[in-house]
Order: sequence, then structure tokens, then C-alpha cells
Amino acid sequence: MVRGRAAEIRLEAISAAKRLHREMKIRNTVTSGSGMIDVFGAIEQLEIPLVFKPLKTALGLCLPKPLSGIMVTTERGLYIQRFTAAHELGHAVLGHSGSVDREFNYRAMLEPASGQDFQELAADAFAAEFMLPRWLYKHHVQQQGWTVQRHLQNPDIVYQLSLRMGASYEATCWGLLSHDILNRTDVELLLKTKVAQIKQSTGETFRPANSWANTWRISAKDHGATLTVDPDDLIKIDLEEAAGSGYQWNLDKLRGAGFEVISDRNQIARDPVLYGGGVRRTLITRPPEAPMVNIDLSESQPWQAAPDNDRQLRVSLIMSGKESGGLSRIARINRGAVEK
Ligand SMILES: [Zn+2]
Repeated sequence: MVRGRAAEIRLEAISAAKRLHREMKIRNTVTSGSGMIDVFGAIEQLEIPLVFKPLKTALGLCLPKPLSGIMVTTERGLYIQRFTAAHELGHAVLGHSGSVDREFNYRAMLEPASGQDFQELAADAFAAEFMLPRWLYKHHVQQQGWTVQRHLQNPDIVYQLSLRMGASYEATCWGLLSHDILNRTDVELLLKTKVAQIKQSTGETFRPANSWANTWRISAKDHGATLTVDPDDLIKIDLEEAAGSGYQWNLDKLRGAGFEVISDRNQIARDPVLYGGGVRRTLITRPPEAPMVNIDLSESQPWQAAPDNDRQLRVSLIMSGKESGGLSRIARINRGAVEK
């Protein structure tokens, strides 16, 4: 009985999230834009008051109508703030009574037990669907040319997927199960790998500036994309060098934009399944402090004045760390309080 009722509640919450996606035309905006769902922007658009405060014992809370409002802690990273806000939005949209939330239980959402708080289950299911819908997985998987069998069982790849969707690694793994993209055994295996380990292997000997910052791995597959990164993140750029042809990637514009190149080396691709064969030039960089910045690289023959067959890698970065207090960044922009 508990399972039947829980499944029903979960489906209702998922439908509510899908309805909101449709009404707000979110799919098109996201797939042609930043690749992640703007949770704070949606709350702002729905005119639900949202503030960030240094809550110590809760991730977030939601006040019921007629007061109606959402508060999210400043004590956690952006991806947890986003999921928390989506969870509280779920309480608001589903017309729940008020709630104070200390943790989220992704597992309980898919494996309800007796004694489960149905209101929390519904808000979690809403948040997961709102932030991590199946079409968003599909969008990124297609963009990167990943396949379920060869790539999505690899923790490094799922971590890169999570960054592009603006969600935690854990939430991203559970989404793979809830959308039936991977089976339970594969997801349990992914969850055994700790994010700290993945960051460590991706960044090699380099570390992001703080423990919640991330290490991105950007390649030709990201050409033309807009990514939202934290100013403290490390950006690793994989470039295929046309070895022996005299073509070289030119880093002048990258350095000119203020990127600090902390490592630059060539290597033979060790894992052709994941990253293609041939010679790979790998840069590890720290982005500059700026609200927006572009990665702009082109490969050319240095002695040619006007090369016409340059290969290019252009990626726009929106530098957006966690919310640090008061109104959300998007709300402040809308009110003209900060520059874009
Ligand atoms: Zn809740």
C-alpha cells in the first residue's frame, strides 16, 4: 500500500514539474542556451520570494500560503542550493504546508519505505524532474557523442555530465536510474566512486581553489556551448593536435582573456575509447575573475598570414559561483542592482 500510494504521489509531482517546463517554455531556452535549468530564475519568474541566508541546521525552508516564500542556505555549494530551491519550489507548486529541510533522500524517492513523509517524497520527485528531466540528459549525451554502454557507466563522464546540468554527482546518478537510462547495479557502482576522487584524477596534481569547486574537462564537443562555472573551478581543455602538419593551437587569446595556463603538455591519448586517438594537447587553466569570459582557441600554421581552414574551439563561460546571500543573482540583475 505504501509503495502504491508513494508511486502515485511521485507521478503527480513529476507531472507538475513537466507542466511547469511546458508553461515556462524551459526546454527550448535550456537546450539552446546554458544547458542547465535556471531554477532561481524560474522561481523569480513565478514571483515567489526567494532569499539566501546562512542557515546552519537546514538546507532550506518554504513558508506556506498566504506568506509563501523560499529560503535557501548560503552554507552549501551552488548545485545543492539549486536542488534545495527546486525542492522548495515543489512544496510551493504542490500546495504543501510549510517545510524545513535538512537533507534530501534520493534513494527514498525511488524506494519508498513505510513511515515515509509523502510531502517530502513529492517535493524531492518534483525537484529531480524539474532540474534533471530525461530530455536534458539526452541533450548533453547527444552533444558529447556519449553512449550509454561505453560512457555513462564511467564515473568521470557522469561527473562531467553533472557539471553541465548544474547538479550534484549523486543527484545525477539517481536520475540515470529514475529515467531508466542505467540499471540499479550500474548506478550503485557509480555511487561508490567519491566525487573527491574524480576531481583529483581529472585535475591531476592541480586542485580547484576550494573543496566544492569543480574540474571541468572541455573538448571540441563543447564548441559553441555556454557553460556555467564557478570562478574557483579548474578548466581542463583537451585539444587534438594535427601532429606533423605544422598546425598549432594558439593560446594568445586565451591568455589575453585572463586565463592562467598552469599546465600545457602533449600526450598520446591513453584512452582512445573515451577521448579519441592521436596526439592530445592538454591545458589546465584557471579562469579569470569576470562575470563572463570566452575560451577562444584556434589551430593554425604559424607562418600563414591568413589561414582559411583553422580549427576553432569557442566556449562561453558564465562565471557564477554559489549564491552568497540576500536575493539571487538573477533577481538582483532584474532589479538593476548588479551589472550583467
Ligand atoms: Zn521539504
